[in-house]
Amino acid sequence: MNRKCPGGYRGRFAPSPTGPLHFGSLVAAVGSYLDAKSQSGEWLLRIEDVDTPRNAPGAAAAILRTLENFGFEWDGPVLWQSQRLKAYAAALDHLRESGLAYPCACSRKEIADSATHPAIDGGLAYPGTCRAGLPPGRAARAWRLRVQDEETAFTDRLQGRQAQRLARDVGDFVLRRADGLFAYQLAVVVDDAWQGVTDIVRGADLLLSTPRQIGLQSCLGYPPPRYAHLPVATNAAGEKLSKQTRAPALDERRAAAELVRALSFLGQKPPPELALEQPAAVWLWARRHWDFAAVPRQPFIGLAACPPPSPHPPPTAFAHSR
Ligand SMILES: [Zn+2]
Repeated sequence: MNRKCPGGYRGRFAPSPTGPLHFGSLVAAVGSYLDAKSQSGEWLLRIEDVDTPRNAPGAAAAILRTLENFGFEWDGPVLWQSQRLKAYAAALDHLRESGLAYPCACSRKEIADSATHPAIDGGLAYPGTCRAGLPPGRAARAWRLRVQDEETAFTDRLQGRQAQRLARDVGDFVLRRADGLFAYQLAVVVDDAWQGVTDIVRGADLLLSTPRQIGLQSCLGYPPPRYAHLPVATNAAGEKLSKQTRAPALDERRAAAELVRALSFLGQKPPPELALEQPAAVWLWARRHWDFAAVPRQPFIGLAACPPPSPHPPPTAFAHSR
């Protein structure tokens, strides 16, 4: 894998194999794919299977098959996080040697008892109990990043300027968990840098994680990529589509129709009759007409506003309110 992509665009799609792809994952795949292709960029595929207890048997193979049947073409071999543990360990070693990572003995209950305020994305901000060293007689359970008490900011191509004070909004966050697994935040940052990813286009449900990733990039000396956080599809209850909210799996027999629906969700105006064609016809249209400026800028959009295309499509394409 080339670590550098001089002057070029390199994007990626990075699903977790916790279940089959659903409409929400398709929106992220379509958005990242077309943003890359419209800039003559590469589009990489990474399977984020580092959180092994959450992996569903057969899900990774099903995801690859679905992407193929929907007509996605990725560049280079698929990267599997489960085969990258040495790289994550090396990054953690580097942070330890620089004094930026420290061991933490706290149990979940101890943190719950000592935390003073919630973290910005749920859970509790770590109160820093082990920051100055492990309490006497206690053993390390997890490893945490020592975050700086300063603003971490970036400008998202869709969501605008974002800023957090990691020390207040998250606290020193976990790099290696008590169960020995590397944390998502570390794995994603190490892989994006190693793969030379220049542009991260993904769902806005990850917007609040981004300052943590930028903080880690800075600690590890990696160049920051550009970010665009796409609107996330929510169900009638306002929940993000996911395995937990029982989002239905994508139907490969209706691939063209689902692609048309994803394009409409992303503010594009595909001719509705494309839903009756093969996926290749949808891609031909989409690669010619992709308009990033038309992508809605709100982080969440109810799916009810973008129903599945009917076999007899309405005469006018759905248009988003902005
Ligand atoms: Zn601790």
